[in-house]
Amino acid sequence: MAYENLATKYRPAHLGEVMGQETIKTTLHNAVKLGRIAHSYVFYGPRGCGKTTIARILAKTLNCHHPKDGAPCDKCPSCLEIAESKSLDVIEIDAASNTGVDKVRSVIIEQVSFAPSRDKYKIYILDEVHMLSTGAFNALLKTVEEPPAHVVFVMATTEQNKVPATILSRSQCFRFRPISEADIVARLKEVTAAEKIKTEPEALRLIARSAGGAMRDAITMLDRAASFGRGEVKADVVNELLGHPGFEVVNSMALALVNRDAAALHGAFDKLNSEGYDALATLRELRNNLAAAFLAAQGFGEGEPVKNLPKDLAPAALARLSRKVNIIVDEVKFSDSPALAAEVALFTLIEVPQDLDGLVRRLEGMAESLNSGAPSELAPASGQKKNEAVAAYPAPAPAPVAARPAAAPARVPAPAPAPVPAVSAAAVVPSDAWKKLLGQVASKRPSLYNVLLAVKIVFDQPARWRLICGVKFEAGMIETARAELEDMLARFAGTRISLVPEFSAAPVAGAEAMPEPGEGDEAAVVDDDIEAEAAHEAPAPHKAGAAKTVSGDAEPELKHLAKVFHGRITRINKVK
Ligand SMILES: [Zn+2]
Repeated sequence: MAYENLATKYRPAHLGEVMGQETIKTTLHNAVKLGRIAHSYVFYGPRGCGKTTIARILAKTLNCHHPKDGAPCDKCPSCLEIAESKSLDVIEIDAASNTGVDKVRSVIIEQVSFAPSRDKYKIYILDEVHMLSTGAFNALLKTVEEPPAHVVFVMATTEQNKVPATILSRSQCFRFRPISEADIVARLKEVTAAEKIKTEPEALRLIARSAGGAMRDAITMLDRAASFGRGEVKADVVNELLGHPGFEVVNSMALALVNRDAAALHGAFDKLNSEGYDALATLRELRNNLAAAFLAAQGFGEGEPVKNLPKDLAPAALARLSRKVNIIVDEVKFSDSPALAAEVALFTLIEVPQDLDGLVRRLEGMAESLNSGAPSELAPASGQKKNEAVAAYPAPAPAPVAARPAAAPARVPAPAPAPVPAVSAAAVVPSDAWKKLLGQVASKRPSLYNVLLAVKIVFDQPARWRLICGVKFEAGMIETARAELEDMLARFAGTRISLVPEFSAAPVAGAEAMPEPGEGDEAAVVDDDIEAEAAHEAPAPHKAGAAKTVSGDAEPELKHLAKVFHGRITRINKVK
């Protein structure tokens, strides 16, 4: 006998076998028992939550020759034919593939007046009904308004808002909910017991979580995991199939964010990239685990919370982080290089302190001790240990203007940038203003600084510069920070210039690469094995001729940095 996939084999045949949707099941069951059948039903809700399944069970119940207590017998010709989608009186139409008016007209409107060929009702199951054209809906509406007594429409849709109100108002509408993780796990247990498949509880939980409320997706994943694991379903196999790196890696990322530990974050991404895990799936896990940790702190046990968090971390910080990671998920979804975009975006989260409440508490403590006259020092919170790597990462090139050290984690209220005296527009060469802007950005927003370094500029209008980016995501980053950048630039250029980020993979006429701040003055390039190792992924434009070379041996701290960021550092500018 041919292998029948589990999703088909375990498709529920009775309402009692359907997981969740209790209200809907009860209402339909009672309606059938009392003979109160509507002529038009609309089932709406997310995919995979049982709409078509319940529609078929309803059809079977209505046309069964020997129903028992409102349930189909599963033995009569009608029941058997419907189970195999062969019944002449139950017509299933996938509206996604029949959007034309003519099709609906020929299939429904013209045949609708004929009596059922054998059974009690002629039942039309219209899947994805929102895909019908307006003309098709109008044709359908005429029948729904005055249906022949023997006709029942069951329309299923994931987008109820696209179904005309005229249809909805003449139908009985049921809202289907996503199936809960617990219900999915329960059903998976039934299936695996019947199939004699060995399982790890953790594996079923992972499958249920990944299914997002869709039973069919869960059972399909179970099927794949079982064939992959030769009849055994293990958590690591499921993680592998889902492209998840597993809890440990995601947990280390979460801790890296909370502790603002750049080296640890980069280490996690190294693992991610070398094993080829899905960056988007990983970000979603990260978001879920942070959210679960926040909820756990509120006393709600859902999902898998981040472990080993610093004890004094305010739960609100976790909620904030989860929310920001969620925004990054949306951003990364449309990137052509998700892994890189995800890493860069997470690094931007490291720049800002996460536990703002903790900082406020410490500042308040400091204010109190100042008031009381006691000497005080703003001590770093535990969990925000002074990390050499954090301090080092955002300092590729402190510009002459911003000669102060890059903000260390504990130095929170970043001092406002010193006001720069306005200079007349004529006196400023565009590249000077740009260099000063870069210098400012380098200390405040390192990830943005790296993006700006790679930008080419078209100065075709005096008050409007086009910033050409080779990577779409980077154009987006500039767009987000645009107002802030324009404000800064206005201070250096003495006049308002609008910055217009553009994405272009091909070279753009008139676009100029801008020199980095410090280049040609006091710049030094680390040109030994560090660069050799990293050259293949060097993103920064690099003109070696303008800089002199120092060896890593002469600069032990550079060697140390290179170890921390192996494969990343291609260039280090030094300032006297
Ligand atoms: Zn039957």
